[in-house]
Amino acid sequence: MRLKILGCSGSVISTESPASCYLLQSEGHRPIIMDIGNGAMGAIEDVVNPSECDIVLSHMHPDHAADMTSLVVWRRYSHLASDEPAKLYAPNYFSTRLGMWFSDHEGEIADLQDTFHICGWKVGEKVELNGFLIEPFPADHPGECYCLRFTEISTGATFAFSGDTGPCDGVLQAAQDVDCFLCEATWTTQPGLPPHMHLTGRQAGEIAQQAKVGRLLITHIPPWTDKDKVYQEVTSCCSAPAELVTPRSEYEW
Ligand SMILES: [Zn+2]
Repeated sequence: MRLKILGCSGSVISTESPASCYLLQSEGHRPIIMDIGNGAMGAIEDVVNPSECDIVLSHMHPDHAADMTSLVVWRRYSHLASDEPAKLYAPNYFSTRLGMWFSDHEGEIADLQDTFHICGWKVGEKVELNGFLIEPFPADHPGECYCLRFTEISTGATFAFSGDTGPCDGVLQAAQDVDCFLCEATWTTQPGLPPHMHLTGRQAGEIAQQAKVGRLLITHIPPWTDKDKVYQEVTSCCSAPAELVTPRSEYEW
């Protein structure tokens, strides 16, 4: 499988990167856009026709989903639009939340089904999409939020994405024994951090170590967090190869 980093800035867009957005692809299948945060649309346009992708969303916070607004417009109105609705897996209130943006009248919800075939995640149910089996696990983060585990059907290769989460069983189960784990690390260790929200570099490293992942990719570091300190925390407690991802970097396994 191939993973391309299109946006990896945590919480907000930065001068170096859009917010969270990744492209996953199994050979011979349509690409999957995984999260589409602030500023991601331009990065997607640069590498693929956005109409030719299907979409999975970990949750609906703007830094993971805001550019869905751009993708709707692209799919509906650009000359590169598609007549076929894209498949989209998302939190169960996705249609309501995004439909409110596209309604022209207060209190109404626009119907997006001309543009997307929308399915809500169900914990315990794997879905098959574009050469992958994908399983959602509950994350420890405000709202309906998931950690996602991917298995490439043709090769058995595995991948997990933490989404946004505090330390919890869901992220451990999603990441257990995967070949590659893309994990958020929003903070460095310090007093007073709010619970049920995000991971420090140390917590990300500890989860990767406990889950016995083959490789650890760290993402979602906000512009105000010290990247070097995050890396030090990660590598102080994780023996797997680890790195901080950067925009446009690609991985294949
Ligand atoms: Zn979030």
